[in-house]
Amino acid sequence: MKPYTRSAIRDISERHGFRRADSLGQNFLVDRNIIEKIIDAAELNQETLVIEVGPGMGALTQMAAEKAGKVIAIEIDRHLIPVLNEVLGPIENVEIINRDILKTDINELIVAERKNFSDSGRELKRVVILGNLPYYITTPIIMGILEKEVDMDTMVIMMQKEVADRIVATPGGKTYGALSIACQFFCETNYVTTVPRTVFQPQPKVDSAVLRLDKRKELPWEIGAGGRELFFKVVRAGFNMRRKTLLNALSAMGIDKTDLKDILKSVEIDPSRRAETLSIQEFARISNKIGRQREL
Ligand code: SAM
Repeated sequence: MKPYTRSAIRDISERHGFRRADSLGQNFLVDRNIIEKIIDAAELNQETLVIEVGPGMGALTQMAAEKAGKVIAIEIDRHLIPVLNEVLGPIENVEIINRDILKTDINELIVAERKNFSDSGRELKRVVILGNLPYYITTPIIMGILEKEVDMDTMVIMMQKEVADRIVATPGGKTYGALSIACQFFCETNYVTTVPRTVFQPQPKVDSAVLRLDKRKELPWEIGAGGRELFFKVVRAGFNMRRKTLLNALSAMGIDKTDLKDILKSVEIDPSRRAETLSIQEFARISNKIGRQREL
């Protein structure tokens, strides 16, 4: 059973009495080429564990399982579980979990799977998070994975193109913001491909894009005094009022403007610049300086 053709989706839905839940962002992929592109970008092999977010009817799951050592697919909609059991039932290296991804402890799953791999004399070398993400929670899913420091190596994920553009954006443009910085702080981000809206059933209103995010083994920027918490506070304050100068935007953190001016000048950043022109390095310089001053 190939669950990625329009006729198969219609047929499976009819047989299982499945009704799509609009509220769960259920747009199923119906294009084999795109599925192959996503799977190729993930570079799976027998030493890879895949955690899939929202398998739907198993379009990506089936192909991922052909290459990966194991696939754990987490689907919130219980009405899709019988469908997944039928489509993926005969495949041994797939585990389906009926749960909300936002309430799932992914690290716990990974720890258990590391043990399973080693108990069966295999090595687990890479963990890949895969998914055609439900659009209504794209950002919370990505931020949850980054903030909870999920022990993964790579994410290959599809989302609305507009969100993908924001994630890979570089300083200077309108799309560059706190989401770009959060993702690029922890990961190297790569734009894999644009996906037209026509390859989904039903067709969404916007185009999509696939990104590959590789978790950095070491962070290339030093976050010293104040740590990550202060760094992200500075980033958020900067972008909360992105049209204002840094001096005005950052003063909302409760720092006296004269002190702030001195801080910015001491790290060689013009106080009249706007947050959207600053690189991660520059934000790090500011937050490190604020942190050091607070320690005095
Ligand atoms: N992977 C399938 C495909 O590409 O055809 C389906 C992708 S569809 C865009 C998103 C899937 O995520 C749906 O199956 C939906 O039920 C599921 N989903 C929505 N919210 C979820 C959540 N909080 N946790 C887990 N799965 C969720």
